[in-house]
Amino acid sequence: MKGIVWHGPEEMSVEEVPEPEAGPGTVIVRPTATGICGSEIEGYLGKMGNRTPPLVMGHEFAGTVTEVGDGVDEGLLGRTVAVNPLSSDGTCRLCRAGLTNLCPNRRLVGIHSPGGFAEFTLAPAANVYPLPEGVEARTGALAEPLANGVHAARLGTAGGHPVEHAVVIGAGTIGLMCLQAAVLDGIPEVHAVEPHEGRRNQALALGAKGAHASGEEAQEALEAATGGLGADLVIDAVGAEATRRAALSLLRPGGRAVFIGLHDDDSTLGFHGVVRGQIDIQGSYAYTAADFEQALSWLVDGEAGIGELPPVLPLEDGPGAFADLVRGPSAQIKVFLSGTGS
Ligand SMILES: [Zn+2]
Repeated sequence: MKGIVWHGPEEMSVEEVPEPEAGPGTVIVRPTATGICGSEIEGYLGKMGNRTPPLVMGHEFAGTVTEVGDGVDEGLLGRTVAVNPLSSDGTCRLCRAGLTNLCPNRRLVGIHSPGGFAEFTLAPAANVYPLPEGVEARTGALAEPLANGVHAARLGTAGGHPVEHAVVIGAGTIGLMCLQAAVLDGIPEVHAVEPHEGRRNQALALGAKGAHASGEEAQEALEAATGGLGADLVIDAVGAEATRRAALSLLRPGGRAVFIGLHDDDSTLGFHGVVRGQIDIQGSYAYTAADFEQALSWLVDGEAGIGELPPVLPLEDGPGAFADLVRGPSAQIKVFLSGTGS
């Protein structure tokens, strides 16, 4: 079968790869829509230590179940399913505490096993969710990125942290997903910061009260809205040093910054403000099964999305699409690929 193989920084090609075999408790999915994730762009550039070439990436996907392994419900055959690519052992201390996303034995389809940029992909049967009639694969493929947003937004209000004014920095896929999760979680006023005009418009269409071209602009709007205090919550969906600094400067005393973006590793931050402002610094990584299920349910009900869905491109267009995405943001926030036409 064909798959897109990443061989190292900016080296990727479509080639013959071994077809997966369904073992006990697993299914074979023929992906009909696999989204390119921002973390995979960084991975493509060789900036993600958790990806080792040669690798078939692709962890945001939905498709048709073509084969089921021993012990798996045969009713899944032929169904269109969304796939939660993240599995945990379910038995370690972190899993028992509900922190399955942090399980030291976690595995992600597309990182630890070949992913959705291929004609067929192996997935644990427990991780597939049949989509209702009429809901298409591209919608199901958005459950993974939205689950990241659900998780970040929940961490933003966890422990009873009161949030009336929130800011999401970055309106790429993950930023827009964090924004929608924050709005759907009931945060009354969520703003976006995004330099790209098309993406600002998308943020407004998806529920932002304001969309600002810079942190300074957002700061003025927030100060006006909060009597000079600042935001209760800032989610940084970019992860550059500048956006991490902006996140801290937008917060009110006692505010919370949730960091989900992974653009830079090292960042220099002023910590006197963190100490004196009693700022809560919170990382956010991946999602639990409950986050994934919440995300899928909002998508299926049409409460969340990315507006008009872009077309699904053939696998052959994958290497070129990765090379284009490296060049910077565009108004189209998601690229879908599939080998079904191959
Ligand atoms: Zn575990």
